[in-house]
Amino acid sequence: MKQKINSILATIAVIAILASTLAVTFISYGLFQDQVRDDLKIVAELLRDTGLFQGAYATNTDMNSMKLVEKEDLRITWIDADGDVLYDNDTNPTKLTNHLDRPEIQDALKNGFGESIRNSDTLNMNTFYYAIKLDNGTILRVSSEARTLVSTFMASVPALLMIAAIILMLCISLGHFLTVQLIKPINEMAESLDSNTPSPVYSELEPFAHKIRTQHENILAAATMRQDFTANVSHELKTPLTAIQGYAELLENKMVEPEQEAHIIRQIRRNSQRLLTLINDIIELSEIDHKGTETKFSPMNLYEVAEECCNELQITAEQRHISLTISGNPTTISGDRELIKELIENLVQNAIRYNEDFGHVRVNVDKMNERAVLTVSDNGIGIPANQQQRVFERFYRVDKSRSRETGGTGLGLAIVKHIAEIHDAEIKLDSDIGIGTTFKIIF
Ligand code: ADP
Repeated sequence: MKQKINSILATIAVIAILASTLAVTFISYGLFQDQVRDDLKIVAELLRDTGLFQGAYATNTDMNSMKLVEKEDLRITWIDADGDVLYDNDTNPTKLTNHLDRPEIQDALKNGFGESIRNSDTLNMNTFYYAIKLDNGTILRVSSEARTLVSTFMASVPALLMIAAIILMLCISLGHFLTVQLIKPINEMAESLDSNTPSPVYSELEPFAHKIRTQHENILAAATMRQDFTANVSHELKTPLTAIQGYAELLENKMVEPEQEAHIIRQIRRNSQRLLTLINDIIELSEIDHKGTETKFSPMNLYEVAEECCNELQITAEQRHISLTISGNPTTISGDRELIKELIENLVQNAIRYNEDFGHVRVNVDKMNERAVLTVSDNGIGIPANQQQRVFERFYRVDKSRSRETGGTGLGLAIVKHIAEIHDAEIKLDSDIGIGTTFKIIF
């Protein structure tokens, strides 16, 4: 990350330096060219106005008397209308060729003035010419050398390199500083995942931080739950097994009175049945855990499934003289039929189990505000308000002995909660001691 930030900053800096240098060079060179041309024009007009070039010829002595000519790189050439050089302050006129073909001379003859720029012998320099036509038909030309665009740019290269080096160093330090600043809160956040105090992350990172924290909490909670579950399972399995072992030992050692034998055998059968129910519930829970992610939902009639459950549990209800009835309307939901049946069975079984003899259990399936609702209500013993949330925990039972006596495992509502979660359904529990309990599953 540090390297990436460094290279991005360095690239931006190099591009910025190059672009601004090129822009400044172009603009200032354009201004410089204009300046040179203006200067030459002023000098040419000044020389014309001196009247020195109105005569037949001009001499160096005449010229030297003028301050202007002191400027070393200023060349003055006087040419007649045929292009022959009459005077040149730099070279003997007799050695100079005819100048009629020079563009600035041509223009001056035609338009009164002319200008041009030509490369000098050395590529680094350009020569600027400005020619003016005098009243007597001769041409006065002034010229001066100036740097070319390339050489102007090249001249700025050493300074440019130095600035680039300084900026590069600044970029590296800035990159380092930025990386440290960026990483610091993230590291702090990672370290404070366990604590509830919110770490000062950037607002942009808040959703990410929130997600990580929730996931972390979920992982911790799942780990604790697994640990608790394993401990609970071992304990729950141990109780009936210890009882079976004890009764079996009594029988083995012939320590049982003949009239007690039937009772002992019944206890062994009941405890093995308990073990079996417990193991079945554990298998069921772990299957739902696995199924959770790959549940295949299909449209199904909730009323039909509820009716099926009621029919199957009718005998159990009748044994305790409890009336089990179903009402409502055919209601379609998208779900896993097997799981939904398991959910309804658990709720109805509990409603029978934690009921008084001659009580009633009512199952209703209907639509409420466009949502399918399954209601299982009883007029049984009820659940104390302070334990209503806990009954969904694995192995949590309000009255342990009653649950055991009636074949409960403490896993029924945990299974219900799990299945409801898989179906994105809400569970509502309403219960009053001695009055009854109502479970609503809102799909
Ligand atoms: P169990 O196998 O013990 O029934 P559940 O998870 O199904 O376990 O239920 C947990 C506890 O919630 C039960 O032990 C019981 O105390 C209480 N409970 C559940 N349903 C009812 C109900 N309809 N009426 C009263 N208490 C209930």
